[in-house]
Amino acid sequence: CGIVGYLGPREAYPIIIEGLRRLEYRGYDSAGIALFDGENLKISKTKGKVADLEALADKEITKNGNVGIGHTRWATHGVPNDVNSHPHLSNSGELVMIHNGIIENYETLKQELISKGYVFHSDTDTEVLVNLIEYVKKQENIKLGKAVQIALNQVIGAYAIAVFDKTKPEEIVIARLGSPLAVGIGEDEFFIASDASPFLEYTKNAIYLEDEEMAIIRFHKGIKIRKIKDDSLVAPYIQELQM
Ligand code: GLU
Repeated sequence: CGIVGYLGPREAYPIIIEGLRRLEYRGYDSAGIALFDGENLKISKTKGKVADLEALADKEITKNGNVGIGHTRWATHGVPNDVNSHPHLSNSGELVMIHNGIIENYETLKQELISKGYVFHSDTDTEVLVNLIEYVKKQENIKLGKAVQIALNQVIGAYAIAVFDKTKPEEIVIARLGSPLAVGIGEDEFFIASDASPFLEYTKNAIYLEDEEMAIIRFHKGIKIRKIKDDSLVAPYIQELQM
């Protein structure tokens, strides 16, 4: 399973697809992508291989856009099928998220959200988390990063996530606990991936998130890393990759 994301001046689609291909060795049963082109959020996802995703995207979406996230899924909650594939949308359609890992208390959280009027289309734990983030965000009227943090503090489990808001697409929020996540820092551009292989050809500067850290990545503004538990700021440690 794997995560790839891009935020910057380039076309995100080829970077994400090629990145997903490089992460294929990690194993997966489904693949998907979400792209924002300045106006529209476009999602393609399918059971099967990255090649199947490409064939579907050719038919389904225009592949332009400078912000995007891509995912390969290794199903833990819900069978491998198109609907359970990531990315997953929140009920409002504003938040889009990918996730590797397991939300162990998803059933309790799901029932709470259902009682608040939320509906679910997939059997995944991931769709519960993206809606919990949305619920917290709207309830408290706070920024995405803060909502992600509050939601993750209610979660038991393991995760690497990447989420963005299509009404504020210059920002991607990522977080990790138990699943790897790296950020490639380019010239006014950011690459997100499960390991550095998707972005090595673009930049040798990388930040590896530690467990229980989250990062808010903003176009033109840089990256802010915080501890999920206590909100304290972490000084970014940029490594120069040798390969
Ligand atoms: N638990 C999530 C799902 O089943 C993510 C699986 C993964 O790590 O790819 O959709």
